[in-house]
Amino acid sequence: MPGLVPGIHVLEGSAQEGVDGRDKPGHDGDLRMTIDLDAKLIEAGRKLFAGDWQFVWASPSIETLPPMEGLEIAFAGRSNVGKSSLINALTGRNNLARTSHTPGRTQELIFFEGPDKDGLRLVDMPGYGYASAPKTQVASWTALIHKFLQGRASLARVYVLIDARHGLKDVDLDVLKTLDRSAVSYQVVLTKADQVKGAELDACRAKVEAALSKHPAAFPEVLTTSSRSGTGMPELRAAMMKLLEERR
Ligand code: GDP
Repeated sequence: MPGLVPGIHVLEGSAQEGVDGRDKPGHDGDLRMTIDLDAKLIEAGRKLFAGDWQFVWASPSIETLPPMEGLEIAFAGRSNVGKSSLINALTGRNNLARTSHTPGRTQELIFFEGPDKDGLRLVDMPGYGYASAPKTQVASWTALIHKFLQGRASLARVYVLIDARHGLKDVDLDVLKTLDRSAVSYQVVLTKADQVKGAELDACRAKVEAALSKHPAAFPEVLTTSSRSGTGMPELRAAMMKLLEERR
């Protein structure tokens, strides 16, 4: 499967072996290095999330955010996109992030930290696009999300979650526009891939990637995940590990 970790392309094991089973020199040697690097990142990513991740802070408003320090990676997406499930799957915890929020309850930015205290925090952002919540409440959550995305120096990356069954909606495009204006790198992650058949999934990914080509701040590649089956989790962990290594 090519391009598992953004910017790195993984090739099948047989591709770098010569007919006698030994490594071929030249270009194939480079491929071997690429594969080794990817395997290392996957393992480092696994370790990063193998420990005990904990809740550290909740902010219902922009005034109550924790001090900016270390490196933050935020997860954003429409309500019900599978954001809490993804954070739980990444950290191997069943209930770190609360799943199936009731629309209308207080929406907060929730910060989690790993056991190594290596300065990496995950930020669970309020879900946006509730159809049934009062308009004023939706407006204040939306303002909170957009303010956070625009003015947070410690925010190194945002993963924008998109339901693989539904693709990009207008509220998602608004968030992408805000991210384009801020200096944060972001990548789209398709969720619930287990619910969509192969060809449909490919079509969804192609459509989202085509839309992203109009957003220069976005990673051109889309990650595909399922919290239920575990698809894409090692690659997402590795991508975060890569970011952490780059910023250290
Ligand atoms: P959030 O509102 O974005 O935090 O979404 P949740 O994580 O609470 O998930 C919303 C619903 O989608 C729940 O019923 C989850 O069980 C379901 N869900 C989340 N991730 C997956 C997935 O990967 N596959 C499937 N089939 N269902 C999922």
